[in-house]
Amino acid sequence: MISRRTVVGGALASLGVMSTPALAAAARPPLLEMPMAARRRLRDPFTLGVASGDPEPDGVVLWTRLAPQPLAWDGLGGMPSREVLVDWQVAEDPGLTRVVRGGRVRAVPRFAHAVHVEVDGLQPGREYFYRFRAEGHLSGVGRTRTAPAYASSPSSLTVAAASCAQYEHGYFTAYRRLAEETPDLVLHLGDYLYEMRNDAYVAYPHNVRSVAGPETVSLAAYRQRHAQYKTDPDLQAAHAAAPWSVVFDDHEVDGNWAGLHQEHRRRSDPSFRQRRASAFRAYYENMPLRRTSLPHGPRMRIYRRLQWGDLATVHLLDTRQYRDDQVSRGHSRSARRARLDPRRSITGDRQEQWLLQGLGDSDARWDVLAQQVFFAQRDRSRRPGLQVGMDGWDGYAASRHRILEGFEHRGVRNPVVLTGDVHRHYANDLRLDFDRPSTRPVGVELVTTSITSGGDGQDRSGEMRAERAVNPHIRFASGRRGYVLARFERERLYADFKTVPYVRRPGAPVRTAASFVVEDRNPGLQPA
Ligand code: FE
Ligand code: CA
Repeated sequence: MISRRTVVGGALASLGVMSTPALAAAARPPLLEMPMAARRRLRDPFTLGVASGDPEPDGVVLWTRLAPQPLAWDGLGGMPSREVLVDWQVAEDPGLTRVVRGGRVRAVPRFAHAVHVEVDGLQPGREYFYRFRAEGHLSGVGRTRTAPAYASSPSSLTVAAASCAQYEHGYFTAYRRLAEETPDLVLHLGDYLYEMRNDAYVAYPHNVRSVAGPETVSLAAYRQRHAQYKTDPDLQAAHAAAPWSVVFDDHEVDGNWAGLHQEHRRRSDPSFRQRRASAFRAYYENMPLRRTSLPHGPRMRIYRRLQWGDLATVHLLDTRQYRDDQVSRGHSRSARRARLDPRRSITGDRQEQWLLQGLGDSDARWDVLAQQVFFAQRDRSRRPGLQVGMDGWDGYAASRHRILEGFEHRGVRNPVVLTGDVHRHYANDLRLDFDRPSTRPVGVELVTTSITSGGDGQDRSGEMRAERAVNPHIRFASGRRGYVLARFERERLYADFKTVPYVRRPGAPVRTAASFVVEDRNPGLQPA
């Protein structure tokens, strides 16, 4: 089907006329030049910063949320209970003099005055700058970029991967350093925020910051918590530096939740549906997500794909919402059997088929699985027999094996799994059978440590050496805070494991703790 926009654009192009977006922008002066003193009825509502996300070749999502009092207990940010008109602009330059797109949207109380603009009509593979205006106030300027054209062959894609930012545990310096890298894309792999009440989760010897509000259960509390996180200047800098594509893990809802099972009640609980709906609603409102991720009650579609020309396909996964409940801790024979049970799944059948199909259809050099929990096997004990965590893919070993076999059977050229959750960096070779270290790897996994969770952290080299002795496919591990910077090129992938020496005080420098290379069609990590 040919859309109206294509026809109009095509007709204008054939007449040698400017495209419709350029015409629209030309008719509208830059926001700075418009009179603004007239209607200054609110205090500055742009306390939560700006963000963009889910880049496509012709556009991105722009986000902001109006909240003159971000910590308001009702979660509504001190906004009046009326609609507010918000103007937005996209320009080619950071000074916003060459505006190419613009418009006006309504911020409504029903969505806590969140604004999501799905901009289209942009050029592929280009950098843009954007900002908002409401009630005479201007937001800060964000930088974003579009994905390259589907049929193009881009030379590189630089991705920063982040996860696990416990507000009370430290300063978000790692987000600041990540922003300074100006990546093409940020992938946030979960635990963007934590649901607990203040001081319920302490980083030794005590927390260095405080959160407002109770453990998040109500929509008001989730909204308030999101707003408090978004007031952080380092987090705002990271959002303003690049488009983000986000997936939630557990703490955006409840620790270690699985499907309709919450943390402290192992059987399905009807009240958890309501909690999940509130968590999803607030997550959507506070993230640069497309309408396709708008939640419907306790359901929200966050598994999706991004395409970077023929260089990379990013498959963003949801390993929480559709999983079978965790096998209970303990290492009884029945737990071991359940762990291996082919009927249990961490993705759910539908998402698994979607993923395998997408891996088969992909012609990309690099197929990136952006997902939440540890994918490789990780035996935590030196004693004979496996002792593994039940919340990661180890607890769903058959589910993992189907994906690993999919890499092989569907001819995936270069599979790369990106992971968060464990508050440590890991670099892993992936094997069909992790207990046969002499076999050829079928892909790699890059696990990013936390931004702050766990506090300052340390190298823990002795412990890490012991772990690597039991798990030869683990090539590197670090217990410090930081992020992963992955540069995908046509012939190789460069992966840098970035760390900061402390987070309990602001201002830490960043260093590269380890670097690896993966060559095209040669799966497995090599020292850089
Ligand atoms: Fe975490
Ligand atoms: Ca987690």
